[in-house]
Amino acid sequence: MKLIRVVVAALCLPVLALLLVSMSLLSLPAQAWGPHGHQTVGAIADQLLVGSNTAKKVRSVLGSNLQTAAVWADCVKGVGQVKVGAPFVYDGSGPYPECDYYENPASQAAMEAFVKRNATHCYSNSSDEVCRHKSYHYTDVSTRQTRYNPAAAGAGPHDIVAAINACISVLQGRPSPAPFDIRGQTEALRLLTHYLGDVHQPLHVVSVYLDKTGHVVDPDSGLFDPKTDTKGGNVIDDGSSRLHSVWDSIPGPLAIKLLAGEGAAAARQLPATTGAVTAWATGWASDTVVSAQPAFSALTFGPQAGNGHWPATHGSDYSQNRQALQRQQLIKGGARLAELLRAIWP
Ligand SMILES: [Zn+2]
Repeated sequence: MKLIRVVVAALCLPVLALLLVSMSLLSLPAQAWGPHGHQTVGAIADQLLVGSNTAKKVRSVLGSNLQTAAVWADCVKGVGQVKVGAPFVYDGSGPYPECDYYENPASQAAMEAFVKRNATHCYSNSSDEVCRHKSYHYTDVSTRQTRYNPAAAGAGPHDIVAAINACISVLQGRPSPAPFDIRGQTEALRLLTHYLGDVHQPLHVVSVYLDKTGHVVDPDSGLFDPKTDTKGGNVIDDGSSRLHSVWDSIPGPLAIKLLAGEGAAAARQLPATTGAVTAWATGWASDTVVSAQPAFSALTFGPQAGNGHWPATHGSDYSQNRQALQRQQLIKGGARLAELLRAIWP
């Protein structure tokens, strides 16, 4: 699989790439938004940019297409420390075949350097506060909000919106704003490609806050109680699955259809983003805040269990509605990634 991936990335033959990705999707159960969701967002943007100056610039910066670059920010999660003060070492080989492309000495050194610059510590069970780059993938704006607000509970200076803006800054030749330490266009573009996927995953942007009895509370009203934080749905159980994982998973047939051209065709019909590029990430996150509401409003929550998790139940149409929303969000992600790159490199 490693050799095949390298050939695909090097030759950028859309038909071959589609065939191979389709085969891998058909042979696997539903996988996380990363990798297949992220690869789909990257592939839609690749298709929208075919033949443009922007596409030439992208390839010269990445050495690959966007589809391949889209998983890098998750692959770097394979970098860790055995203890505080120990070296940052990539040890992610094995379970994630989409990272094979980056499993060579030069690429591993690049992943280790990025994590070292963007973390205080990264040993096992480190929080996202100290293994800081992991917090760049999401924000946890309350279901009670109607737009993204950087001052709201769950948002912050190193969340997904700030991370996208940091990448844009570097790609436009400005410094990487603190607390981010993003160096060079290759690193910035790999990260940006991934984060454009995450900012369209409903549960990477919106989170429900619950009291012990399972009633929805407003974390932005009165004194914030950290015990109401459901961690982006990671401590909400939908049957035997975590709610967050349910939304990370996209059905293989959906990804295959989007990759086959349906995604790019639908993306061309979307309205353009207006205003200054530096405000786009905030606007897109606000759009996700609104779009994500059905992910939560269709759920009923039970009392918190002894393990700290809340159970959620829903009607039989939840899965079908989820897939429709996921399709819409993946298409938006691809369209907006292409749109943003055209704005940066016309
Ligand atoms: Zn992510």
